[in-house]
Amino acid sequence: MPCDGLRLAAAQMRIDDDFLPEIGHLDLAVLDAAADVVYFLDAGLRLRGYNSAWEAFALANDGAEVLQRYGLGCCVVDASPALLQAIYRAEYLSALGSKEPVERDFQCSSPSEFRLYHQTVYPLPEKHGLMLTNHLLVAGPHPEPPMGFSSAYLNAGGVVVQCSHCRKLRFQSTPERWDWVPSAVEHPLADISHGLCAYCLEHYYPEPHAGDDEPRPTS
Ligand SMILES: [Zn+2]
Repeated sequence: MPCDGLRLAAAQMRIDDDFLPEIGHLDLAVLDAAADVVYFLDAGLRLRGYNSAWEAFALANDGAEVLQRYGLGCCVVDASPALLQAIYRAEYLSALGSKEPVERDFQCSSPSEFRLYHQTVYPLPEKHGLMLTNHLLVAGPHPEPPMGFSSAYLNAGGVVVQCSHCRKLRFQSTPERWDWVPSAVEHPLADISHGLCAYCLEHYYPEPHAGDDEPRPTS
């Protein structure tokens, strides 16, 4: 019976019970078995459900603590770097009212592996929420040599500046230089601020066309 199937899949997927009617038209068992991360946001951009791949990714990368800190009901935009929150919020809200999926690539590398993902944001019916999927496009060695951390990455205030996308650190005496420093990803520093390196700024947020009113971050 479809209803029994829905309950079984929901028990595996972690979905708020009151959000089930918004996604009852989807095959949740298939989504739960997907290798891609799949998760759902309501119209307030709060996390309302996620599949097993989301949980496995979180546990492998950030541990159980992140599942508690960013559990069901949290606003996922608030978990993003502050520099990008306005961008993501505008993108997701625009997808809510769209009939077409919104797509973009993003990096989420680990200390030992370069990883590039493709995210697709699907609007749910009646503007009641979004389904997001993250598909791994590239996984392999980092394209640049790893650098060791040193005081060369500290600014005058003792703060490190990290690119919000590729997670490289700004080399303070040559501000246009950004280095891959895996130890800073493995053990995030207490005094850190976020920016965007020149490559990521141009690649992910190219100069808007005339008339565009989407927010654009600065480096
Ligand atoms: Zn970057």
